[in-house]
Amino acid sequence: MNIRELFHTHLGEQHDLFAEHVNSQLVRVLKTIGFDKNYTRAQGQYLYDKDGHEYLDFLSGYGVFNMGRNHPRIKAALHEALDMDTANMVQMDAPLLAGILAKRLLEKVNVSFDKNFPSTNLRTYALKRLDTVFFTNSGTEANEGAIKFARCATGRPRIVFLEHAFHGLTTGSLALNDNDEFRNGFGELLPGCIAVPAGDLKALEYELSKKDVAAFIFETIQGKGVFVPPEEYFRTAQDICRKYGTLLVADEVQSGLGRTGKWFAFEHFGISPDIVTVAKALSGGFVPVGAICYHKDIYNKVFSKMDRCVVHSNTFGRNTLAMAAGITTLKVLEDEGLVENAGKMGEELLKGLKVLKDRHEMVSDVRGKGMMIAIEFNRPRSTKLKIGWDLIHKVNKGLFGQMVVVPLLSKHRILTQVTGHNCDIVKLLPPLCITEKDINHFLTAFDDVMNDCHRFPGGAWEVGKELAKRALSA
Ligand code: PLP
Repeated sequence: MNIRELFHTHLGEQHDLFAEHVNSQLVRVLKTIGFDKNYTRAQGQYLYDKDGHEYLDFLSGYGVFNMGRNHPRIKAALHEALDMDTANMVQMDAPLLAGILAKRLLEKVNVSFDKNFPSTNLRTYALKRLDTVFFTNSGTEANEGAIKFARCATGRPRIVFLEHAFHGLTTGSLALNDNDEFRNGFGELLPGCIAVPAGDLKALEYELSKKDVAAFIFETIQGKGVFVPPEEYFRTAQDICRKYGTLLVADEVQSGLGRTGKWFAFEHFGISPDIVTVAKALSGGFVPVGAICYHKDIYNKVFSKMDRCVVHSNTFGRNTLAMAAGITTLKVLEDEGLVENAGKMGEELLKGLKVLKDRHEMVSDVRGKGMMIAIEFNRPRSTKLKIGWDLIHKVNKGLFGQMVVVPLLSKHRILTQVTGHNCDIVKLLPPLCITEKDINHFLTAFDDVMNDCHRFPGGAWEVGKELAKRALSA
């Protein structure tokens, strides 16, 4: 059997096969919004379909492809690692590449710490450099581990998280998810977990003052909706955590590894978390891998004696290919200046979007950092447009976003997403390697789509009506 031959022989059957054996509802959605493409190839920030059409990927696999797709250096490293026939996953062993990746990842985390906390800074009282890593297979597994470590290290049961949070979909992480659409139907989750509004320090202090909270976990910049908290929020939240003995856990699964223009997004806020979770881009876009970065005080409580040496463990976490992918990804991000590029391109994109916000009344906000940007829409003022808006919203609250995302793909070949349920927010999550040309392409396309949306009746609203009809019949 030859994989290439298999792929090309069956090309065109993917939606039927997937619907039949994997997830038919997802295929229905793809068909409804015209996302049922035949992508056959990808490079950097571009996807290509079977007819050779190029698509600009502003979704990057939900934030996996920070370094672009099919990066030649990461591919080469993986080929090399495969050809070495390593003694992989011996388990009763200490794999060399795991030690190397742990050391290099911690260097990146601690660079952020050092910048935030120069030695003269009074806040260094709080600083504990992170010196230990536990490798996982995914972001949710990293957060599950963080929950366990925090509960074990503090001897406390509860976790506090933020409204709108998303930390993964296994049962522990789901207990920290603020969205009923995800939680409903799965029964009672981890008890004692509670959401507080981002920015509300009183609510946070109220919960933490009960002194039974193991951890306050947050996405430094939230994936669902790209909500950025007020500048001082995390610093004061950190002080409150230290006051009551609660561990500060930054989920950098999406916002980490350069996405926001810093190695880690917590760097923007000058804080030093006790635990940092990472995943997605560490994989190089090839081999699932996540990491829990934490400090020895926590390690010593969890892995307290020899017979607890694997009290938290997994089978695949430190495998050769994942470690090779992680090591090379860090090097590529560094050598190609992708973290800096994310910051620079993010500013350009936001600048352009702000101009368009002034031009189009339905665009109410553009926000974000680096390559993590949200465009939010609001009910229009003009009577005609209000009619269309209200009609669409009666059927489904998230439908207007689809009216933007659908023509961006069908007319302009740009892949984006509506973020979260029941909200009018479109999210941009491009690879960090995008260029000014890509930004101009996006801005021109978005302007065109917005012009259509601001004409009622018109083509865009016909698309909306059609989507509404299909949503109603689903
Ligand atoms: N945490 C955040 C902030 C995420 O965005 C995600 C995934 O989107 C996760 C955790 C879960 O990661 P995974 O899908 O690898 O389990």
